[in-house]
Amino acid sequence: MISEYNMHPLFDSNELAINSNCALDKDFVQRIVEYFKERKENLEKFFDKKDSEKIVINLFDNQNDLIECASRYMKVSSYCTGAICNGEICTYLDGHKLDNYGASGYMIATMVHEYVHCYDRRVLRGDDVVWLNEGLATYFSGQKRAYEVDEERYLNFLRNIDLSGLPKIEYLKKRGSKFGEFCDMETHKYNGYDLSYVIVRAIIEKRGDKYLKELIRDKNVLDKFEDEAIEWVSGYIKNKTF
Ligand SMILES: [Zn+2]
Repeated sequence: MISEYNMHPLFDSNELAINSNCALDKDFVQRIVEYFKERKENLEKFFDKKDSEKIVINLFDNQNDLIECASRYMKVSSYCTGAICNGEICTYLDGHKLDNYGASGYMIATMVHEYVHCYDRRVLRGDDVVWLNEGLATYFSGQKRAYEVDEERYLNFLRNIDLSGLPKIEYLKKRGSKFGEFCDMETHKYNGYDLSYVIVRAIIEKRGDKYLKELIRDKNVLDKFEDEAIEWVSGYIKNKTF
């Protein structure tokens, strides 16, 4: 457990531990436990691979402490909402959102986003390719599940993507928040998280689960896909929204 931040246990089982430096409603903790269970089972079923390691989640009550803690382990940006520190998931809770069911659900999905990165590293052991890592985490965490239960919302989301501003695939392979890097917070021409989500979803939809697994496992398949990825996803978006 991250010891310097007054973390105390809120939940502990063989598979999952939740620690926090603030008091939390029992129902909310239960929602976290259930959502993790559901999403972990979903991942294990999709990839047909179990993750036997225990999951540890540390919930900070503010973003500054999270960033300070995470920056000891990696280079983090000022908009960091979650990180993996020494194998443990660290994220923060926005107290203002706790009363809102949808917003607090999104916070839980953000915790699972970090867990998918853990699963990716220790179970799938794929290459460290930013767009693929983030696309898998965004897709399998259910952060955008509103688009999976409501096709019209998904189509509207696709319509709002500016196809003339699509980045080169190289941009999506470079961590950072400048133009030319994964998340363009400079000119806002593209959003790496959104695009990576669409690419992963399009792969599953059009090329199937098996192809996605090959892409993760086989660098040759990945290289070949990347050569045409942006053009291909642009065509996918055009077709869907035509
Ligand atoms: Zn991520």
